[in-house]
Amino acid sequence: MKPTDEAVPAFSWDEWYAGVGGRSIDIPEVQDFVKLIHTEQEPRFTAAVAPIVSPFASPSEASEWVKVTAKSLGADLVGVCQIEPSDIYRGREVPERFAIAVGKRMRYGEFQNVPSRRSAIECMRIYHDLGEVVIELANALRARGFACRVEHPLGDSNVLHIPIGLKAGFGELGRHGSIINPELGPLFRMGSVLTSLDLECDKPLDAGIAAFCDSCRACRIYCPADAIPDERSAHAGKDHLGNDRYLIDTGKCFPYFAKHAYCSACLPVCVYNHKEWARDFSGEPTKLFPTIVMHEAPSECDSVPSEHRHQYEHVHRGGPQKPLPRHAVKGDP
Ligand code: SF4
Ligand code: SF4
Repeated sequence: MKPTDEAVPAFSWDEWYAGVGGRSIDIPEVQDFVKLIHTEQEPRFTAAVAPIVSPFASPSEASEWVKVTAKSLGADLVGVCQIEPSDIYRGREVPERFAIAVGKRMRYGEFQNVPSRRSAIECMRIYHDLGEVVIELANALRARGFACRVEHPLGDSNVLHIPIGLKAGFGELGRHGSIINPELGPLFRMGSVLTSLDLECDKPLDAGIAAFCDSCRACRIYCPADAIPDERSAHAGKDHLGNDRYLIDTGKCFPYFAKHAYCSACLPVCVYNHKEWARDFSGEPTKLFPTIVMHEAPSECDSVPSEHRHQYEHVHRGGPQKPLPRHAVKGDP
């Protein structure tokens, strides 16, 4: 049996949260999932690789096997792409050639009031459940003799999930900075498994979603921190379709996110959830449009250490407070 990858230094979440003004989310069920991830899942990120390889007849057969296996483990989305240097976090090394992107949907019914205890628990539940999928998918590959690396959805990844998901055909980049899938909308999370097994890659999607964002502003209107931009940014790089990207002001989003149940308001308000299926997706009655609790936004905070900082613009700063939109309620002071 040969070992898999070497351990890499962990991302300093405490330092990161301090840099966005401190984290004040205290939800026992969330902490339980975080504990499970650290104590039960992390030790299973690496494992031995079977010494005898069970080869595939072709890259296309290998990709098909990977997708069927991931779906049988509970994945809702699976796609494959080649890893490029721009997909890798600064300071990390990724020798593997391919990323198997895996997505798992979140329950719309848990996002009826946002931010809330329920929505925060659902975010962490899906990180845990998706973690199981990527760990077991990696184990299935190792059992066939192929080394691979687990990229858990709960932070400290070596690769950026969003560009990988876009290349793997998961959907298009929305104004809110998350991928919108034509069927699942943006309410899903991603993890991945990296490998050098020859795989057939998927193609990026062009379903007209990014173009639709140019005329829809629902997420921008309902963002409690006023962090979502009106316009695309010409200097911020392109999305996979060649569009200038929308750049979220993370100096406004992250401080809010760290204090208010991981916020996530931009996801359930996204019009791509407002389909018939969203109403009875998990068998319970849901509102067509969620109620967004507009807590007072903390001051913007830009003191994340530069090695951990995102590139972002300072949008909507210093202007008058925006009026409360419909379907939004004032939060507790
Ligand atoms: S997570 Fe919340 S604060 Fe951040 S962009 Fe989305 S709606 Fe705005
Ligand atoms: S709410 Fe509208 S503008 Fe925002 S990401 Fe969804 S479709 Fe795009």
